[in-house]
Amino acid sequence: MIRIGVLAMQGAFEEHIKALQALGVETAEVRLEKDLENIDGIIIPGGESTTIGKMLDSYNLTDRLISMGKEGFPMFGTCAGMIMLSREIEDGLPGQTSLGLLKVVSCRNAYGRQINSFETDLAIRDLGEKPFRAVFIRAPIISEVKNNVTILAKFQDKIVAVKEDNILALAFHPELTDDYRFHEYFIEMVKGWRKENGKNNLN
Ligand code: GLN
Repeated sequence: MIRIGVLAMQGAFEEHIKALQALGVETAEVRLEKDLENIDGIIIPGGESTTIGKMLDSYNLTDRLISMGKEGFPMFGTCAGMIMLSREIEDGLPGQTSLGLLKVVSCRNAYGRQINSFETDLAIRDLGEKPFRAVFIRAPIISEVKNNVTILAKFQDKIVAVKEDNILALAFHPELTDDYRFHEYFIEMVKGWRKENGKNNLN
């Protein structure tokens, strides 16, 4: 059985857990280092990246997550979670913690104050024909990508969804509608990683 952890420090973690459970996957709330044992992948939810970063540091999770990510452990960041995974943050606080695993520059609050939140339909080839309803809440964008980063979606020429090896990152909140195709996509990444690491679906 696959078990996916959801970082449960702050932000929209409960909705991710609900999505994973709807897809028949076991879940674990991650707060302490020991919660990182016995999981096959992790979701870093939206919320406030500066707060999540401080909490990761104070719970001593930052270095552990960085080394897991470098070893190929599947990670899925949404909104603030995408910022957390990025190598560089534009408009971050000085010294803001990031895991630096995804070779992109994320720009915080890219849609500014006036349009703090909006929803839109995105065409995402990897998810099939049906457009994906994306909920953007004080959302970041990706302003720069390096080699090896696959762009999964753009909204008005701005990059809003990417994948690089074991890392999936979205500028929006896929857990706030009942279209769980991105969670399914991540579960497939997790299955691939388990296979590579010699785990079958029975253990
Ligand atoms: N603006 C937030 C940040 O900088 C992200 C917002 C969100 O996750 N919905 O962390």
